[in-house]
Amino acid sequence: MHIETLLVRSGVGKDPSTGSITTPIYQSSTFQHPRLGESTGYDYSRTANPTRTALEDAIAALESGAEGYAFASGMAAIAAVFSLFKSGDHLIASEDLYGGTYRILSDVLENSGIQVSYVNTGDIEAVNAAVQSNTKAVFIETPTNPLMQVTDIAAVVDIAKSHRFLTIVDNTFMSPYHQRPIELGADIVVHSASKYIGGHNDVIAGLVVTRCSELGEKVKFYQNAIGAILGPQDSWLLLRGVKTLALRMEKHQENALEIARWLVEQTDVVEHVYYPGLETHPGYEIMKKQSSGFGGMLSFSVREEDLVPFLLEHLKLITFAESLGGVESLITFPARQTHADIPEEIRNAIGVTNRLLRFSVGIENANDLIQDLKEVFDAYRK
Ligand SMILES: *Cc1c(COP(=O)(O)O)cnc(C)c1O
Repeated sequence: MHIETLLVRSGVGKDPSTGSITTPIYQSSTFQHPRLGESTGYDYSRTANPTRTALEDAIAALESGAEGYAFASGMAAIAAVFSLFKSGDHLIASEDLYGGTYRILSDVLENSGIQVSYVNTGDIEAVNAAVQSNTKAVFIETPTNPLMQVTDIAAVVDIAKSHRFLTIVDNTFMSPYHQRPIELGADIVVHSASKYIGGHNDVIAGLVVTRCSELGEKVKFYQNAIGAILGPQDSWLLLRGVKTLALRMEKHQENALEIARWLVEQTDVVEHVYYPGLETHPGYEIMKKQSSGFGGMLSFSVREEDLVPFLLEHLKLITFAESLGGVESLITFPARQTHADIPEEIRNAIGVTNRLLRFSVGIENANDLIQDLKEVFDAYRK
């Protein structure tokens, strides 16, 4: 079946006892045992809950993986995956990472004896050069947050396979509608489902999908052992949100491309536009090869630092807020928000400067979004 169909049919027909089209919210912590030594398959909701199972089965199918697991947040999902590693192990990670992922690597994993090398994973030679005898995994985001650097997933997988370590991809920015890393050879996919999968800026959740059941069993062990599971109500919200993912992603992308092209023309105030759907973007050809689209995220740097607060205070429609991937357009100032935990020298070195803004383009009318930006730019120009 095609992805649009899989998306719409997520969680459908999971309740034979009533025929309910949608998966019901099984708001139950525990389940009655039929008799001694028997189980319905559900015993206690930390271990498994039917609403969560419907979501977990859906995301596994959407990402072409064997098993799916749902967590209380994207960070809880990533933490469960990082639990696979122990003191003495070495990991390679994209240098331009989501701030929370950088924080857990540098302040939690590195403190417990796990070594991490940060490299530009867009540069395959750099990935190769970072490999050590104790390397256990490479963790990539593509495109990265917020600089939209693109990594060739299949090329990284080749290196990982030849050295027998895992490839883990944070697929939050593209969603399974546009990009399915497991089909390109990755072993584990993680999502902040708070973003495009939920899609409505109304739920915090995380998902993990594994290529094989063996890895899935290990993730399931940590999901149950640590216990940061997604509740039934939030699982249902994701099942509801994901049904329209195809339509939403198409519109996010259409709007993002239109806005990126318009921003490129504002040369007096805008210095650079980072959107992988622009033919001038260095990752454009790789994106075309490994993804079916370019997504709805873009970043841009402005020429003058003063324009940043001016813009954030005067935009009327585009909302100044953290997060991304919802139907409403949001603008973020990474240096002060998502990337505040990254030291300034490192931020500047990788390009997350005090003049960079990240734009999660929503599904409003693109002309209204452009008009909002234009009015503020015009007021600043005066
Ligand atoms: C938001 C985000 C996360 C963290 O997810 P939460 O749901 O906020 O815990 C991880 N990776 C990326 C790329 C994100 O955008």
